[in-house]
Amino acid sequence: MVRHFTGGKLIIASHNKGKVVEIADLLAPFGAEVISAGDLGLSEPEETGTTFVANAELKAHAAAEAAKLPALADDSGLAVTALDGAPGIYSARWAGPGKDFDLAMRKVEEALGGNPDRSAKFVCALTLAWPDGHCDTVEGEVHGTLVWPPRGDLGFGYDPMFVPDGYDVTFGEMDPAKKHGISHRADAFRKLVAACFTK
Ligand code: IMP
Repeated sequence: MVRHFTGGKLIIASHNKGKVVEIADLLAPFGAEVISAGDLGLSEPEETGTTFVANAELKAHAAAEAAKLPALADDSGLAVTALDGAPGIYSARWAGPGKDFDLAMRKVEEALGGNPDRSAKFVCALTLAWPDGHCDTVEGEVHGTLVWPPRGDLGFGYDPMFVPDGYDVTFGEMDPAKKHGISHRADAFRKLVAACFTK
């Protein structure tokens, strides 16, 4: 049974201020008073899961238990078909300690090694967890094709090499407002709101 959030305090298990502000705006119409895990001084658990869903649930449970409040967490990344879903949950780690996504994109291109199948998807798992251990999780996706060389500097991460299906520009070239409407995160939030948030 899905559990509904009917208003009140909601922890966002993220230390990324941009992400927290975006989520607060999105959930304000549902009476959510958003508090970031960073503001509460909660530590971030190690992402030891082997799937996006496992990592989102692990982060949401840790925050919900520590704060004794419902908590929302996400985990996302790029899954390349010809690479059996890599870099997947290791998307951030492929960029190394310097968070160098030019390097990470080059690694993807080299791993593809001329493979004609350049299809990929961005995935976002999103979990709403409760202090008693209950949780609900949804997964959002956006499918597309990888291009080389990378194009555009509007996005982040792997955006410059990802052309979403139905478009001819990369996420790095696309107006961010447009990207936010069709992205894996938008898809996941639409699903979570439909399932768990009542006005
Ligand atoms: P996290 O879930 O915020 O930890 O993101 C994991 C990693 O996935 C990021 O560091 C990016 O490399 C990649 N990623 C997730 N979402 C996007 C996106 O919308 N565009 C480009 N890269 C993304």
